[in-house]
Amino acid sequence: MNFLKKFHFPLCALFIVLLQLGFTQEISFHITPLRPVEELRAAALKQQPPREQRAFLKADLVELVKLDPTIKLDIRYATSNNFLGSPLYTQARAFLQRPAAEALLLAHHELKAQGYGLIIHDGYRPWYVTKIFWDATADDKKIFVADPREGSKHNRGCAVDLSLYDLKSGKEVKMPSGYDEMSDRAYADYAGGTTDERARRSLLRQAMENQGFAVYPQEWWHFDYKDWKRYPILNLKFEDLGQ
Ligand SMILES: [Zn+2]
Repeated sequence: MNFLKKFHFPLCALFIVLLQLGFTQEISFHITPLRPVEELRAAALKQQPPREQRAFLKADLVELVKLDPTIKLDIRYATSNNFLGSPLYTQARAFLQRPAAEALLLAHHELKAQGYGLIIHDGYRPWYVTKIFWDATADDKKIFVADPREGSKHNRGCAVDLSLYDLKSGKEVKMPSGYDEMSDRAYADYAGGTTDERARRSLLRQAMENQGFAVYPQEWWHFDYKDWKRYPILNLKFEDLGQ
């Protein structure tokens, strides 16, 4: 009896974890925002992105699934399943500047031959959302969020957060860490995890590097397109980008 009692809780916990892994999407890493997200959103919407003086190319944001509907979406910032625990986007959509979007499409096609497709967690991100992330995050975790005074490459429509899905099962694969996990397991050169996890991380990175993207060393899932400096910081909402 004592033996059963002792193991009652861990078995339940294990069952819950298995349920989450098997039947719902992966649960995101989570922090407690320094202030309520609604308060941060109201403050961020009143502010303007930094002004940059150089000449830029004209923005031409393309919706990724319109290029190829087999590119999958898991836009966690449009749900509560993200590191702040509240929705930041009102629509689950992903955009990149046209040359970056076309390069991503080539990577998606290249991966198909190896049994994988791309699953997108985030692309273009309005500047005010970057401001919310920064203001919500404690100093010791700020390495994982972009400084709004400089803007994020996501704000320029030239950064993408993504992983692989298995073409047979349709499910996102396991990597050495979860997406948006603020720990050293997120580092692109983290030596832990399983051999298969590290192999899939390399496969993704190689396919993206072949098309002009560079991995962010602190996040295996984040890639910057080579021409990001040529695009301005944007603050358009998804609703402003048409249907
Ligand atoms: Zn990113």
